[in-house]
Amino acid sequence: EAEVALVGRSNVGKSTLMRELTGHTFDTGGKPGVTRQPNHYDWAPEDFVITDLPGFGFMSGVDEDYREEIKTNIVHYLEDYAENILVGILVVDGKSVIDIIDRHSGPDEIPYDVEMFHFLRDLEIPTVVAVNKMDKVDDKDERLNELCDRLGLYPPWKQWQETIAPITAKKGRIEPLNEAVREHLHEQQRDDL
Ligand code: GDP
Repeated sequence: EAEVALVGRSNVGKSTLMRELTGHTFDTGGKPGVTRQPNHYDWAPEDFVITDLPGFGFMSGVDEDYREEIKTNIVHYLEDYAENILVGILVVDGKSVIDIIDRHSGPDEIPYDVEMFHFLRDLEIPTVVAVNKMDKVDDKDERLNELCDRLGLYPPWKQWQETIAPITAKKGRIEPLNEAVREHLHEQQRDDL
């Protein structure tokens, strides 16, 4: 069955978003790293499943080796199912994403969010970046333009509405994401004709 896959660092609001997308209740604010296996749910308005992949990055009480293992599992899952995945959703925290990316950029370091974005594209999985917690961001356009810059997308972000979707999952404001995902799904249906 066709699939939409959700990835993102822990604490970006992935469980909150999953709840909005599927109507199921998810473990939010529980023990970090609890989503260890990919979880599949039906996405009602469209005929496919949505897969929640484990959160990654810093989690208190989770050691380095285990974090690496989680990351490796995510990468393998995406490689194995790339053919089947219609859209990848990379969830980031709009409030902190630029700081996190810049802090982890260096001669031998690629920030995880940037790496994952390019990895999904290399697998030819159409990707939408769900920029969550926009309710906490004042200079929205500037922030989203900076994010484009970090991801190698030529600003302004408004040119990339199929790729950059500002949302506030907590308040159910996720229309830009639904819209972007729908665009990708319909594009693929057209290609299949
Ligand atoms: P996960 O670890 O990625 O699954 O993140 P959760 O869904 O558990 O959310 C982490 C924290 O971010 C919780 O305290 C949520 O209430 C909060 N959160 C999620 N979405 C939003 C949002 O749109 N705006 C704000 N301000 N907080 C959010």
